[in-house]
Amino acid sequence: MLRVLILGGTGDATKLVAKVANIAGIEAIASLAGRTLAPHTPDANVRIGGFGGVTGLVNYLQEMKIDILIDATHPFAHQISENAAAATWEVGIPRLMVIRPPWQKLETDNWLEVENNQDAANVLENQSQRVFLTIGRQEIGTFAHLHKIWFLMRMIDPPNADVIVPPGLILCDRGPFTLASEEEILLKYNIDTIVSKNSGGSATYPKIIAAQKLGIKVVMVNRPPVPSGEQVPDVDAAVQWLLNKLTRFQMP
Ligand code: NAP
Repeated sequence: MLRVLILGGTGDATKLVAKVANIAGIEAIASLAGRTLAPHTPDANVRIGGFGGVTGLVNYLQEMKIDILIDATHPFAHQISENAAAATWEVGIPRLMVIRPPWQKLETDNWLEVENNQDAANVLENQSQRVFLTIGRQEIGTFAHLHKIWFLMRMIDPPNADVIVPPGLILCDRGPFTLASEEEILLKYNIDTIVSKNSGGSATYPKIIAAQKLGIKVVMVNRPPVPSGEQVPDVDAAVQWLLNKLTRFQMP
């Protein structure tokens, strides 16, 4: 039996866990950080919470006798990906990253690309009045000093009590979103700028199409660097990679 740890927190990870559950010869354990109050948990063996840095992850991999780690975390979850790279190297087991391609800017897009949320806040200061902030809940405090701007902040769960929230309205909702509903939101709240991470995938792309249609500016936060190592762009390719590993594992 090949024991696989799948680091999740994304829709792709949930789909991957579901597909792997049907493969004879593989036992999958899904791992979630525990950020979301009601996570869409994969129908599998799930563990929740941090490991305790690289050392904690090394211990976990050894204690649980994990043969393979698949990192299907969000492209902006940089720390856990770095930890996974370091820990699997130390333990000496294979690691695969599932990284959906980033969205590409089209000629009709009005994007301003920035490297992080702080840079996004800096560019908003002089050019935006009503902003749709769609970067999740963890880093909204970066925008809290922008008192002249009104923010519509969309996130799955409300921010923690200790976070200083920018002026505006919090909208708790979880994708996928439709083009019609995104257009409705942009018009209803008279939004002039969207701030988005370049997450890639289809679940949250409709807001980008809606912005394009309505001529709304997008401040696009580029992805952090990815650790070196094998990567595939989607769940099907990850399943194929695992099947190849399983064949080799089962060879006498
Ligand atoms: P991060 O900054 O890369 O990770 C911070 C710490 O959270 C890690 O060092 C680890 O703690 C723990 N952690 C993260 N993912 C974990 C997992 N799958 N299983 C167990 N522990 C995990 O991550 P983040 O940006 O806070 O994101 C947290 C989770 O939310 C990720 O699983 C990610 O896939 C998901 N997510 C993130 C974003 C985003 O924009 N960042 C968006 C959607 C979903 P220890 O060091 O104690 O092991």
